[in-house]
Amino acid sequence: ERLVGATADGEDSAVEAALRPKDLAEFVGQTKVREQLDLVLRAARARGATADHVLLSGAPGLGKTTLSMIIAAEMGAPIRITSGPAIQHAGDLAAILSSLTEGEVLFLDEIHRMSRPAEEMLYMAMEDFRVDVIVGKGPGATAIPLELPPFTLVGATTRAGLLPPPLRDRFGFTAHMEFYEPAELERVIHRSARLLDVTIDTEGAAEIAGRSRGTPRIANRLLRRVRDYAQVRADGVITREIAARALAVYEVDDRGLDRLDRAVLDALLRLFGGGPVGLSTLAVAVGEERETVEEVAEPFLVREGLLARTPRGRIATPAAWVHLGLTPPQQPPA
Ligand code: ADP
Repeated sequence: ERLVGATADGEDSAVEAALRPKDLAEFVGQTKVREQLDLVLRAARARGATADHVLLSGAPGLGKTTLSMIIAAEMGAPIRITSGPAIQHAGDLAAILSSLTEGEVLFLDEIHRMSRPAEEMLYMAMEDFRVDVIVGKGPGATAIPLELPPFTLVGATTRAGLLPPPLRDRFGFTAHMEFYEPAELERVIHRSARLLDVTIDTEGAAEIAGRSRGTPRIANRLLRRVRDYAQVRADGVITREIAARALAVYEVDDRGLDRLDRAVLDALLRLFGGGPVGLSTLAVAVGEERETVEEVAEPFLVREGLLARTPRGRIATPAAWVHLGLTPPQQPPA
């Protein structure tokens, strides 16, 4: 697992429960989403109704699971958590749906990875609070309609565009979660430090925030690694200097690039003069699989404006040369 990876690892799962904001007011950033969701939930509460289905789209680690728990808490409802890949058959989904209680929140992570038949069952459940359970096989099969109590589906996906339109259209409210600004991540870090009983100053938090790739999960993970360093090599207090020294040990640089990211950029710049170079060639040069370079390293490098994917291959931007402290080769006059 990468220290700067956005998906949860084992340690995250254990610690995150303690770090999750419990209500909308505690949830940092995402101002628009928070305001809109607040209206949706307040209105439903005032009507004494179950909240509309909510779709949350955004990269891993931005707070989708946390928000779904907040929705349940704000509605005073229990929550059931599952994911698209965990639902292999329509029957799996029928079992979950038929055991929901009135007003319950069903959180379906990675909803775009559900099987087709389950997806179709979900359409009807979302719209009519009803499922057809198929009994028997072949010509003798019959559909037995089953009434469901009203519930709130909270679906999460990395990209809303991946969802089939009929599914997307059945959500009453869609929220796009954006990457966080450094100032917002600083607030996440200060909050987590308080909960973990760690002393950190303003500059220490800023130093960690700047390396957290716009992602609260990464901010919380880096905070824990810096805390270790502060305890073992210093007096336990996190300052800018301690944070920078700790993250140098873990090879996370001042923009949040790790060893792999830097290896890709370094090869692109030093071996191929900044490109264009094909993905396979670049992957061989860093000794990694094509997929690793394309799916693990490149998205963040592209987002940071350090690398661009062009029809002729990968190219480095001027900012990449600056970041690695290298001078771009002199262009011969055209
Ligand atoms: P996702 O479901 O999008 O992968 P999570 O909801 O599991 O992300 O959040 C990952 C971690 O980041 C959790 O520990 C959570 O407490 C923290 N976190 C996410 N968003 C926020 C936020 N807006 N404010 C404070 N902490 C947050």
